[in-house]
Amino acid sequence: MNLLVLTGAPGAGKGTQADLLVENLGFHKISTGDALRRQISLGSEIGKQASGFMEKGQLVPDDVLLKILKAELEDGSGEKVLLDGYPRNLAQAETLETLSDQYPVKLAIHLDVDQTLLKSRICGRRVCSSCGSPYHLQYNPPKVDGVCDKCGKGLVQRPDDSEDKVAVRLDVYRRETEAVLEYYRERNKCVSIDGSGATDVVYNRLVDVVSGL
Ligand code: AMP
Repeated sequence: MNLLVLTGAPGAGKGTQADLLVENLGFHKISTGDALRRQISLGSEIGKQASGFMEKGQLVPDDVLLKILKAELEDGSGEKVLLDGYPRNLAQAETLETLSDQYPVKLAIHLDVDQTLLKSRICGRRVCSSCGSPYHLQYNPPKVDGVCDKCGKGLVQRPDDSEDKVAVRLDVYRRETEAVLEYYRERNKCVSIDGSGATDVVYNRLVDVVSGL
C-alpha cells in the first residue's frame, strides 16, 4: 500500500479533490475529519474525546488520531490510498514515518490557496446531512436550494465552518500544519499545486501529478 498525503489549509479543497480521485482513478480515501465526525455521531468514546476540540476548531490530540488512523489503515483496501487531513502537525508526520515499512508515503501534495479565497470557500460550504456530499453556495450550488443533488436530503453547515471557528482553524494551520509541508519538502516528497480556480481545473492539475507516479 502506498500513501499519498493531500495537504493544505482548511478550504483548500482537499475533500472535494480526494472524492474525485476516488471516483475516477480508484483511490481509497482516508479522511481523519470524516472518521472523527462518524465517531461523534456514533457517540463513541473517541467521539466524546474529540468533539470539544473539533467544535472549537482546534486539533484533536495526537493519541486519539493515531487510533483513528490505524483503524482506517487496517480497514483500507487497494494499493493507492489518499490521506486527507493527516498528518496535521510535525509529531503526526513523524508518527506516520514510523509506520513506513507497511505504509510508506510516496508523495505529499499541497493544495495552495490564498487566505481570502480560503475564507470565502469555507464560509459558503455546505454538506449533505446524510451522504456528506460537498457543495458551495456560490461555486457549486445544489440544483434545488438546500437539498442534496445525490440523495435529496437537507444540506447543513459544519459547526466549525462558521466565521469565528474558521479564523481559529486557519491559525492552527499556520502554526502547526505548515511545518508538515517543510517536513516533506526536506525529503523531496512534496509537490505544490495551485488550488485556486474551478474544481475541474484544479483536478486536472492534480491528475497531471498523480499520473506521473
Ligand atoms: P477536516 O474535516 O479535515 O477539516 O477536520 C475537521 C476537524 O477534525 C479539525 O479541525 C480537527 O479538529 C479534527 N482533525 C481532523 N484531522 C485531524 C488531525 N490529523 N489531527 C488533529 N485533529 C484533526
